[in-house]
Amino acid sequence: MNHRIAVLPGDGIGSEVTVEGVKVLRAAERGMDGVHFDLEEYSVGAGEYLKSGDPLPPASMAKIMACDAILLGAMGLPEVRRPNGTEIAPQLDLREQMELYCGLRPVKLYHAQDTPLKRYGPGEIDFAIVRESTEGLFFSRKESYPPDAAEVRDTMRISRVGAERVIRSAFHAARKRRKRCTLVDKANVLPSMAYFRSIFYQIALEVPDVRADHVYVDAAALYLVQRPDDFDVMVTENMFGDILSDLAAALVGGMGMAPSADIGDKHAVFQPAHGSAPDIMGKGIANPVATILSVAMMLDWLGYPDAGRRIESAVERVFADPSARTRDMGGALSTSEMGSRIEAALS
Ligand code: ATP
Repeated sequence: MNHRIAVLPGDGIGSEVTVEGVKVLRAAERGMDGVHFDLEEYSVGAGEYLKSGDPLPPASMAKIMACDAILLGAMGLPEVRRPNGTEIAPQLDLREQMELYCGLRPVKLYHAQDTPLKRYGPGEIDFAIVRESTEGLFFSRKESYPPDAAEVRDTMRISRVGAERVIRSAFHAARKRRKRCTLVDKANVLPSMAYFRSIFYQIALEVPDVRADHVYVDAAALYLVQRPDDFDVMVTENMFGDILSDLAAALVGGMGMAPSADIGDKHAVFQPAHGSAPDIMGKGIANPVATILSVAMMLDWLGYPDAGRRIESAVERVFADPSARTRDMGGALSTSEMGSRIEAALS
């Protein structure tokens, strides 16, 4: 079985962490009888925008969309802006163009020393955030207003189709985990969120084996710090998910430990939840684990859950040694040393 994988290193530390993701993908492939990955690399992001004027050139996009899955590093650089001064945000464009509505972000603790919370050991923080990624409060992000406008508004768009599909995905994810799905909303204040909640409980009826409940977003921030082990799958709108997933990453070691998958009905992009981290680019110190765990998610999505689990176990084995960390987590390993340790643990 051959799979075409589009590899998009992108900007900043994107290329550094992608190299390690590919290293581990190749190691996993060696243990997968009869499976081969054909990797096709494409240039996208801020660097590409500077070259061609388009961060996602249509010719490359057509080829990328013909692949079976997409592995992405990171895109965007703060100094690369459009003529009107706005930052380019190709990762958001990509989600919208490919209708990648389900932003799946697993959060897992591998070692007690990596969390700022007391009392939690390996595997004791283990939940997933499902972030709606095509509408919500990001919907009107392309509007622009003159600075002297008397008033400006951002729109929270919740469509029935958009809500149903992401909520179904969350219940589906919960079914494969501990069978609990928590809606995070602000239904006591925002009519859009009351609507979202009513759809959530309609979908819950389709999935009676999963326990459904809800929590307000402000309380969710509190509970995530006080008792994160209470959560299994959390589903929420775009902006709430954006904020809570950074908070969640901090519970397990930071952005370098936060993998993600942006999944739609036809395409899926696997990438670390962090950005291009221009402050550390080129230094060889970026943590590649988020990318490596995103590769594990890609294998699971392609239908190879055992191969995905083997990568996770390799990370677990490496992280059992508290000195095996990159600098962001208090260690001294370089990006490539961390990648090689995980590769070795996998082999
Ligand atoms: P975006 O808006 O694209 O998410 P951002 O500017 O909010 O990006 P990041 O690029 O994710 O944020 O960086 C935030 C901080 O986390 C920076 O200090 C960066 O160095 C650090 N960081 C992010 N990813 C990693 C990583 N893989 N390894 C080490 N440090 C990282």
